[in-house]
Amino acid sequence: MAYEAELAAGLEAVRAAARVCRSVQRRLVTAETLEKRDKSPVTVADFASQAIVCQRLEVAFGDDLLVGEEGSAELREGAQAGLRDAVVREVAGEVAGAPGAESVLGWIDRGAADGTTARYWTLDPIDGTKGFLRGEQYAVALGLLEDGEVKLGLLGCPNLPDEQGVTGALFAAVRGGGARAYAMWDDGDSAGQPVRVSDITDPGDARFCESVESGHSNQDEAARIARELGITREPFRIDSQCKYASVARADASIYLRMPTRADYREKIWDHAAGMIVVQEAGGRVTDVNGDELDFGHGRTLERNRGIVATCGPIHDRVIEVVRAVRGAGRERS
Ligand code: AMP
Ligand code: MG
Repeated sequence: MAYEAELAAGLEAVRAAARVCRSVQRRLVTAETLEKRDKSPVTVADFASQAIVCQRLEVAFGDDLLVGEEGSAELREGAQAGLRDAVVREVAGEVAGAPGAESVLGWIDRGAADGTTARYWTLDPIDGTKGFLRGEQYAVALGLLEDGEVKLGLLGCPNLPDEQGVTGALFAAVRGGGARAYAMWDDGDSAGQPVRVSDITDPGDARFCESVESGHSNQDEAARIARELGITREPFRIDSQCKYASVARADASIYLRMPTRADYREKIWDHAAGMIVVQEAGGRVTDVNGDELDFGHGRTLERNRGIVATCGPIHDRVIEVVRAVRGAGRERS
């Protein structure tokens, strides 16, 4: 199978990062941090997750570049010694040889590529930071791009129930090879189970998912679109690329991400892994205009606006309604 070595390395890397994220969320996200809106737990886990994934990829594919969400500049500031030490401690639990601060900062900096080379990885070490801080859903999202095309995607969802009801599910897809769900916490599961989108053909039967955060997706517009499509079920609000996972495994049939600001550009690490998982599970992913996502412009999806992912057959109808509702919105304002 194509990309077999990349898939194996990716599974190992995402599992190691997810173990640290789960442990930090359990230990450091408390009623007190929630009340104080203290973001430090996610900051520690975010940097540790990126360091671990970059370290694993350095071992397996030393020449590959990575476009990560995080840079080490903040951690290098003298005032951040406490944060830096906390990150190094978390990373040391997953990397042999008691790595020091310079090694850890070096791994984080491996994620500083700009996405202009033919082949590179992209990583969101914790997608859905707000969900993480609420003790809810988040994802470790890793994608591999070649010549502007996503070839491999992995979505670690440490809080999402799996098929057996165990908490944590890991999805991966190779272009042309289908999408599979793997045990999140069992390194021995290298086979996984196929996942498939829902088979509904009437958009009115859909359950749609969207961001919990109204600042990330226009929920009023999504509600108008749902009404127009004949959807009566409440929106399924869930943080992170768990939305793509939900469409891929038929927990939902539509993911709407409606732009809230004209100048916002979606980030490649927020969509590369999720997109290929849905596509390989049989679904479709475009932007709100019905255009394919164009990964050929570095760190952002410069040419796209918002996201629409569906189980497939309903996609054209959903886009038609999205365009009509957005057009009407523009006339009103
Ligand atoms: P979600 O969990 O779906 O709410 O998405 C989280 C992601 O939203 C973060 O990783 C950010 O990169 C991204 N984000 C931040 N601001 C915006 C915005 N104004 N519109 C869309 N996405 C955003
Ligand atoms: Mg993100």
